[in-house]
Amino acid sequence: QLSRNFGGVRALRSVSLDVGPGETLGLIGPNGSGKTTLVNCVSGVLAPSTGTVVFEGSDVTGWSRTRRARAGLARTYQSLRLFRGLTVAENVESGLVRTAADHTVARQTRVEAILDAHGLLDLSGVPVTDLSYGLQRRVEIARTLVANPRLLLLDEPAAGLADEETGALRDLLVATRQRLGLSILIIDHDVSFIMAISDRVTVLDEGQVLFSGLPREVARDPDVIAAYLGTPPEDDEHA
Ligand code: ADP
Ligand code: MG
Repeated sequence: QLSRNFGGVRALRSVSLDVGPGETLGLIGPNGSGKTTLVNCVSGVLAPSTGTVVFEGSDVTGWSRTRRARAGLARTYQSLRLFRGLTVAENVESGLVRTAADHTVARQTRVEAILDAHGLLDLSGVPVTDLSYGLQRRVEIARTLVANPRLLLLDEPAAGLADEETGALRDLLVATRQRLGLSILIIDHDVSFIMAISDRVTVLDEGQVLFSGLPREVARDPDVIAAYLGTPPEDDEHA
């Protein structure tokens, strides 16, 4: 039952949702519907006005961002936040700074394993700014995964990607989930991408849950169509 106000703006109004172990939950909704605010409250960037965040049985509402990250709660941001002066490997390693994996050899092994799993090993030594936007996104996800999180929060990871890059991201996330068994909460405007990757979908509208259910149900829900999806193209012919 998370609520968050910004002055008079009620960005979240008693939103309840859950992500199960190993589950991928897609979160969609119009611009300004409160998606990023929700992720900010769950990851500890913002305190909710009211409500609680429970992670693996612990009430983490009062925990700092760092403490949540250490407990296994990782996120990416809507805009890239890579260290522009560092290489691919150095950026990925920076994801380990706040974990207990201090031993240099163990760290390097872990970084290399993640780079390999993400098809980035050959680019280890390349300055991250030399990569395409799609590859930079991939580095960012690798950086969040290197600390072995239990829940990954992805805020619009496919925004600005070309179609084939979105496809690669989808395959990567599916493989990662199978390999690590982690839970994912993913926000994106690309509805077909969300449908393809999610076990369940929640739709926010004006800070409230408009719909929660299976991907195939969401596309047929009249409220969701009216508020967000619009009329499917095939129905236009009968209009
Ligand atoms: P979404 O990610 O779904 O596009 P946001 O969570 O970013 O939506 O925003 C929800 C509402 O809260 C919007 O009206 C937005 O202007 C407002 N909002 C979000 N963050 C802030 C902030 N830090 N200060 C003031 N208003 C904010
Ligand atoms: Mg947002």
